[in-house]
Amino acid sequence: MLLTNFTLYNTLTKTVDPFTTHEEGKVSMYTCGPTVYHFAHIGNLRSYIMEDVLEKALRYNGYDVKRVMNITDVGHLSSDADTGEDKMLKGAKREKKTVMEIAKFYTDAFFADCEKLHIKRPDVVEPATNCIDDFIEMVESLIEKGYAYVAGDNVYFDTSKLDDYYALTGHSSDDLMVGVRDDVEEDTNKRNKADFVLWFTKSKFEDQELKWDSPWGIGYPGWHIECSGICKKHLGEYLDIHCGGVDNIFPHHTNEIAQSEAYLGHKWCRHWFHIHHLNDKRGKMSKSSGEFLTVSLLEEKGYDPLAYRMFCLQSHYRKPLEFDFAQLDNVVTAYNRLKNRVAALQPAGEPDMEAAQPWRIKFAEALGNDLNTSMALTAVYDVLKAPLDDATKRYLIGDFDTVLSLGLLTEAEESGVDAELEAYITQKIAERAAAKQAKNYAAADAIRDELMQKGIILKDSREGTTWSLA
Ligand code: AMP
Ligand code: ZN
Repeated sequence: MLLTNFTLYNTLTKTVDPFTTHEEGKVSMYTCGPTVYHFAHIGNLRSYIMEDVLEKALRYNGYDVKRVMNITDVGHLSSDADTGEDKMLKGAKREKKTVMEIAKFYTDAFFADCEKLHIKRPDVVEPATNCIDDFIEMVESLIEKGYAYVAGDNVYFDTSKLDDYYALTGHSSDDLMVGVRDDVEEDTNKRNKADFVLWFTKSKFEDQELKWDSPWGIGYPGWHIECSGICKKHLGEYLDIHCGGVDNIFPHHTNEIAQSEAYLGHKWCRHWFHIHHLNDKRGKMSKSSGEFLTVSLLEEKGYDPLAYRMFCLQSHYRKPLEFDFAQLDNVVTAYNRLKNRVAALQPAGEPDMEAAQPWRIKFAEALGNDLNTSMALTAVYDVLKAPLDDATKRYLIGDFDTVLSLGLLTEAEESGVDAELEAYITQKIAERAAAKQAKNYAAADAIRDELMQKGIILKDSREGTTWSLA
């Protein structure tokens, strides 16, 4: 039984659509994983946080979700028009390591960041280098079906064979960049400007470290075929939802649709979920810019990574988000206050499940409203204010936190109170002691009352004053 009718904006239809699945109650979900040549920046992680919330929201709503993510450890190239160096090779040269060493190190670093941000590991994580045979099989079939051709010893996808190549972008014009992420140079092998490489055997990137034998000679796969191949391998012929940042819409996802539908011979993916970018003052945060913020840097500056998760949840995934530390500081204060309010709930007693159910539905409706995470966060505050007993409030907050993953209950249980509150109480106790010493008993009592109002009880003894939460 589903809690609510879920709706989501679909990049393919350009409308907020009812969420539907190929098989009732089951969701096949695919996420473009990281290119593991450097640390993920907090912009990449905005995308992964929102995809994590989406996955958990679908599960909360009652769906059985299977989620697959690739790891781009080879083939971050899509045409000989790509400029610069292959990104994996660039990482390897920078750190004087092999490509596989680089891939392993940054894959581990990525999942360590995910853990800190409470991002669940997808059910299947598949490095591209594990699936070369699957890519070759797909490319062979595309050639057989007449959708691909060999030119200059590379295999290209022929985009002129499709009527609706630009369905995802909504454009049909030349003004879209062709086949690359960075700058563009013309690749003279191509029949059409939008064609892209499925398999490289001869490339200007001659010093490629990882190469495999293929029917077209020794080489390596193009970037887009990875996701089509891995998706088909683990999720079959029909995909319910595909996720990524908005920069993936073109060319990457456009080309995935082209390959997959040409190969399968039918429509492939029904929902396309794209997260808008995290920007800083200079624009889109990107790895290639060289300067970017990571989870470790936030930690070095004293921030709890979960405060960054809350920062992301406060804004809608379809709006660009501007990062700045003053905003993050505000979120830290709100996050600490929220945890304190949860910590002040009495742990004893059984929750009233009947009273809880309408709140659960309200929460599911917020998420089902095109993943309105700020509305879902507001549901936590509404529960805290509601005429419910503490046990039911605690139950509901724990339940909501299976999606929000802000550690609201566990953090509260572990630490009881945060450092900010502790410092405040200590200061108030000192002020009260000073007032008493000055025989200003009215001021001392006012401090006791002020703390009492905040649910903090003072106890005086010969050893001094101690406190507890009401
Ligand atoms: P990459 O490691 O470059 O392949 O990117 C991993 C994911 O992060 C992809 O889904 C990108 O679309 C996404 N992404 C890249 N830059 C940003 C950004 N500044 N804000 C949000 N998502 C981003
Ligand atoms: Zn992808």
